Amino acid sequence: MKPPVLLTRKLPASVMARLEASCAVEQCEGDGLAARREFLTRVAGKQALVSMVTDTVDRTVIEAGDALQIIANVAVGYNNIDVAAARERGIIVTNTPDVLTDATADFTLALMLAVTRRLGEGERMLRRGDWKGWAFDQLLGMQLHGKQLGIVGLGRIGRAVAARAQAFGMTIAHTSRSDAGMPLDRLLATSDVVSLHVPLTGETRHLIGQPELARMKRTAYLINTTRGPVVDEAALAWALKNQLIAGAALDVYEHEPQVHADLLTLENVVLAPHLGSATTETRTAMADLAVRNVIAVLGGDPPLTPVT
Ligand code: NAP
Repeated sequence: MKPPVLLTRKLPASVMARLEASCAVEQCEGDGLAARREFLTRVAGKQALVSMVTDTVDRTVIEAGDALQIIANVAVGYNNIDVAAARERGIIVTNTPDVLTDATADFTLALMLAVTRRLGEGERMLRRGDWKGWAFDQLLGMQLHGKQLGIVGLGRIGRAVAARAQAFGMTIAHTSRSDAGMPLDRLLATSDVVSLHVPLTGETRHLIGQPELARMKRTAYLINTTRGPVVDEAALAWALKNQLIAGAALDVYEHEPQVHADLLTLENVVLAPHLGSATTETRTAMADLAVRNVIAVLGGDPPLTPVT
């Protein structure tokens, strides 16, 4: 008998084939509230759960999953999972580090360039039919070369962003809890671009709020590709509206898929719909790593990438 496994979303065909070769796979189909009810019913009796960043795997789900041995999240962040509740029941939680680092770092640079070079503003102007031709002083942005990039959280993605930014001629400052990084206050006050790469935890929720935004240079930009709640979105909208900072570029939001109404009306913010790791290659590699974790654990082997 193949062990039963629950998927909350469909995975790429090659990865599904690998999983189906050794497991009996069931997949959730509902949306919204129906999805939550279906999730709770279907997780019962399953030995593994493959979850996505949008699935809230809280204590209720974990208790309903009476036979779970592993929860394999298809993401590096695992703030959607109650890891302590899983641990209490001896359930292994895994994530997908490394395989998404390059894609997410590339996208961070894409956002940084888009906001500092006013790409969104320019495209909107052109599509509206308001472009009257080349002008010497039209939509002047900020050059990255020679500017300081402040990286908040110099982990895998933070380092990959730093390497790319150095190639653009930027100098790097970073915060860290574990080595001699720059204190956050000083990083905020001295950086021309601030990019957030800390995981979402109790400690980092609203790490950037009104006082922190007020500390930044008026000419500086904020980039958030980590998790929405790391930034107080209402405070950010206020800071952008009052030109306390020059601009922001966001991939993640406090209440996805909702975006603060004021942000939608402002020109000095670039808004992306959570695309950090969204390349075909990376999403396939993430799904593959999650499935290899499931196969390992259900086969009695240690997980490849456990959350510790
Ligand atoms: P990582 O290697 O664990 O890096 C996170 C870094 O944050 C660590 O090096 C840690 O450094 C630092 N940190 C943790 N708590 C902190 C705190 N309270 N204050 C300051 N620094 C703190 O993780 P990663 O692979 O780079 O991924 C980072 C995050 O990116 C994920 O958690 C996820 O939320 C996000 N992400 C988003 C997307 C997207 O689609 N937009 C895609 C992938 C990942 P120290 O321990 O040295 O302080």
